Amino acid sequence: MIRRNFVRKKEDFVCLWGRHIDGDIPGDRLADCGGAMEPIKAVYEKGRFRIFYKCVECGKGFLVKAGKSDDRKELVRLARN
Ligand SMILES: [Zn+2]
Repeated sequence: MIRRNFVRKKEDFVCLWGRHIDGDIPGDRLADCGGAMEPIKAVYEKGRFRIFYKCVECGKGFLVKAGKSDDRKELVRLARN
């Protein structure tokens, strides 16, 4: 099971945005950055979406598998960018 690199707070961010709280290992909660994670690009491969995020505070990039609850329309829009 792949865990996300951050906990998403849907009340704070629209759609696919998240927050940077992990370090190099997903789930380690070592990053004290706390910056907003912007979804830059989505890729569709092997039957599922993956989302490339970039932290707006520190610039660190993450590639995260999209979850079932993610907005499919928004994923398609990002994939077409
Ligand atoms: Zn960050």
